[in-house]
Amino acid sequence: MIQKDRLKNLLIELVQVDSPSRKEHAIAMRVKRELEELGGEVWIDDAGEKVGGSVGNVIAHFRGNAPGAEPLLLSAHMDTVMPGEGVVPVLEGDILRSDGRTVLGGDDKSGVAIVCEVLRVLRERGLSHGDIDVVFTICEEAGLLGAKCLETSRLKARTGLVLDSDSVGFLFTKAPAANVIEFRVHGLEAHAGVCPEKGVSAIQVAAEGISRMRLGRIDEETTANIGVIEGGTAINIVPNRVTLRGEARSHSEEKLENQTRHMLGCFEEAASRHSLEIDGKRFQARVEAKIERNYDLMDVPEGSPIVRLVRAAARNLGMEVKTMATGGGCDANVFNKKGLEVANLSTGMREIHTVKEWLDLNDLFVSAQMVLETVRLNTLGAR
Ligand SMILES: [Zn+2]
Repeated sequence: MIQKDRLKNLLIELVQVDSPSRKEHAIAMRVKRELEELGGEVWIDDAGEKVGGSVGNVIAHFRGNAPGAEPLLLSAHMDTVMPGEGVVPVLEGDILRSDGRTVLGGDDKSGVAIVCEVLRVLRERGLSHGDIDVVFTICEEAGLLGAKCLETSRLKARTGLVLDSDSVGFLFTKAPAANVIEFRVHGLEAHAGVCPEKGVSAIQVAAEGISRMRLGRIDEETTANIGVIEGGTAINIVPNRVTLRGEARSHSEEKLENQTRHMLGCFEEAASRHSLEIDGKRFQARVEAKIERNYDLMDVPEGSPIVRLVRAAARNLGMEVKTMATGGGCDANVFNKKGLEVANLSTGMREIHTVKEWLDLNDLFVSAQMVLETVRLNTLGAR
């Protein structure tokens, strides 16, 4: 029932609409028109104003005609990473890619296209279904900002799917919580040639801290990284300040807390070793840290209705779906934090966030079939 050509054509059209984070206005207007045409009650929320973007999340409600069927959320994000403007899609057989100068933007326009095609099939076939809420978010790539601003109380659905991951046949049900950490190491400025003994090098303190830090893969659930380091002004000045930005992620809140404290502790310990006395005054190197929660844990239980529905849908299509944990965050993390039960289903996008991004249209097709079958089984109350 899913029409492969129609799905392909919509995706190819959508990837050519520029939509970097905070500049999603054009794509939002395009999908709003699509959703209205499909009979949805469509509105745009105020997330755009809140995050300084050109438009908010596009939300649509499709009234069901199957009493008793649980309302479902279908969601994808509209923004893409850079370089993502002026995408020229290239189709070779069933493989869709960019011309190599930009990302394709199948992340996540494949998800948007699938949701639209499923709704179109429901409508043209007159298939009965429960209430469906559609949410197309802004600024997912900029820190899940659209999802964070979403007012979920206006949604009917308490469960559903985000369509925003790669290999078909996987349902992501677990994702880590992540902290973003900024460290600022304060030393003391001095002329490096004339009186270096009157200075404390913030670069040296930072280096000592990092050299004792556990980074990279900490354990099977936990990772950590220092990704940015900036500091110093000239080669003949003992640097008085270094700023470092990093992150820690874990599927365990406790481990995330421990790793975050460990990273701060390494810098604090290094700073404590550097002090000096000038004119009877004691100077002590120190570190300031700003710790922010980037996103929260996602942990949808194996036995939850949405997992069972998707498994059953896959089985009906002669496939198997594996539940998986991912190391990344997506809008589903935020929806789960807000009390919904939402898993992330793959769409077929590959090598995302690179100019080599590609997608096999057969995978896209299968993913759309799985979503349609999930909606159908939900209608039958096949939980
Ligand atoms: Zn994405």
